[in-house]
Order: sequence, then structure tokens, then C-alpha cells
Amino acid sequence: MSHPILHAKSSAKKFGGKWEDYIHLHDWLDETKSWHGHSFHRMWRHHSEGIFEMEQRFGPEFENSDGKTVYTRYVGEQHVREDCDGYIPTAKEWFTIVENKQRPTWATRTQKLEFED
Ligand SMILES: [Zn+2]
Repeated sequence: MSHPILHAKSSAKKFGGKWEDYIHLHDWLDETKSWHGHSFHRMWRHHSEGIFEMEQRFGPEFENSDGKTVYTRYVGEQHVREDCDGYIPTAKEWFTIVENKQRPTWATRTQKLEFED
């Protein structure tokens, strides 16, 4: 499980600017950790529908501290891929695995972040 600041640092490496430009997006995605202290907290926002909800909530694009336009959806996709072993599931896939008590690797295995050695 990666901390939101680590995801934000990964965003800064990928899209430019500072980690502070991105932390609000990663905090929102991981806010559900306070609801459920297991990696399955991701079932509420770590999916394609959650990424689109994030875009509606925060707008489709913003300017980072380098003056570069960043697409909110791309930041969401980066976060979900890093947390779900390179995969972006749908909300339905999450409910299916919870109902059937399955544990595919994308539901439990995180990716190594780009800036980590
Ligand atoms: Zn996350």
C-alpha cells in the first residue's frame, strides 16, 4: 500500500511540477482507507468509474507549478495502476471479487513506484 505522498511524488516525476500539485487528488482516492483498513478499501474509488468521478469533482485539467497542463484523469490512472499491479479495474470487477472472495493479483499487489530504486 503506497502513501498518498508517494503517489504524488510519482506524479511529479511523470507530469512535472511538485508533489504538492497532486496531493489533493491522491488524498481523495485514498480517503477510503479511513473507512476500511484493508487493501480492499480500493473497491470504492480505485476503478475506472472512480477516476471519472475524480475528474468531475476536481475538473478535467489543471496547471501544475511548472505551468504545464495536466489531465486529472491521467493522474487517477497513474494512481490506480500503481496500486492495482498495473491494472485499472471496473467497479463491477471489485464487487465480483468481494462477492466471490477472489483475490486476483491486481486487487492486492502494488507496483514499484517510478522514483523508487
Ligand atoms: Zn491508492
